Amino acid sequence: METIKKKVDRAPYTAAAATVQAKCDAFELLARNGQFELAESSAFDITGLLGSAMVELYDKQFSRNQGAEAIRDGIKNAAKNALCPYCGEGYATELDHYLPKTKFAGTTVHRANLVPACGDCNFEKRTYKPGPDKPAVLHPYFDTAFGIPWLTASVISGPLGTPVVDFGVCLQNPYPELEARLNQHMTIFKLWKRFGTWAAQALDNFDMLLRTPYGQSMTLERAREQLHVTALQQSGGRVNSWEGATHSAMLDSEWYLSSYLKLK
Ligand SMILES: [Zn+2]
Repeated sequence: METIKKKVDRAPYTAAAATVQAKCDAFELLARNGQFELAESSAFDITGLLGSAMVELYDKQFSRNQGAEAIRDGIKNAAKNALCPYCGEGYATELDHYLPKTKFAGTTVHRANLVPACGDCNFEKRTYKPGPDKPAVLHPYFDTAFGIPWLTASVISGPLGTPVVDFGVCLQNPYPELEARLNQHMTIFKLWKRFGTWAAQALDNFDMLLRTPYGQSMTLERAREQLHVTALQQSGGRVNSWEGATHSAMLDSEWYLSSYLKLK
C-alpha cells in the first residue's frame, strides 16, 4: 500500500487496513486447522471496498510495481530449488492466489495466500475455490503432506502392448479427508495427465539408453541398479516426485524388465 503515491487514492485502502488484517487472520486460522473448504467468499468481503478495487491494487501496485518487486521475488525465491511446489517439476515463475483473488477480496494481497507456482499449474488451477464437495488442493505453506509418501506408480501394459505408467494416491495410514484432497490436487493441476506424459518420456529415454553400445550389454541386475540411481538422482529429495515414482515403478515391474525389454 505504501507504493500508492497519491494520498487520495490510498485513502480507501488505508481505511480498510484493519478489516483486511482481520480477513488475513481468518485465512490463517482456516489454514492451520486444514479447513479451507469452509472458506466462504462473502466472509472475505471488505466493507467499503469492492473486490475489484483489491484486484486493481494487486494488479497495478503489487504485481507490476517496481517497489513491490522485492516482495514478489521473496515469495518466488522461497520455492525449494526454484521448483513449483504444486507439481514439483516446473519453475516457479508466477504467483498463484491460493484462494482466488476474484472471489476473496480480503486475501488478495495476503502473503500466505500467494504461492509460487509454474505457469502451467497457475493456469490449470484458474479460480478453483474449495468448498463442501470440493476438497482443497495442498497448500505448500501449511500442508505437511508434501513430506509423507502418497504418490504411487506402476508400469502396466497399455492398450498397444507397450508400457504405460499408471499413477495413484495411497497413504500408509488411511486418512480419507487427506486422500480426497490429494486426489483433487492431482485432478485440478491435471497431474494425472502431465505426470503420465513426462513418465512416457522417461520410458522412451530408457529404451533409447538400451539401444546404445553401453545399454546393449545391460543385464537385468544392472538395469535395476541404473533405475534405482536415476530414481534417487531425479527425485532430488522430494518424497512424491513423479521421477522417483516412475523409475521405482520401472525397476519393480517384472513384466516391463523381463518380458517387454527382455533383459536377463
Ligand atoms: Zn507446477
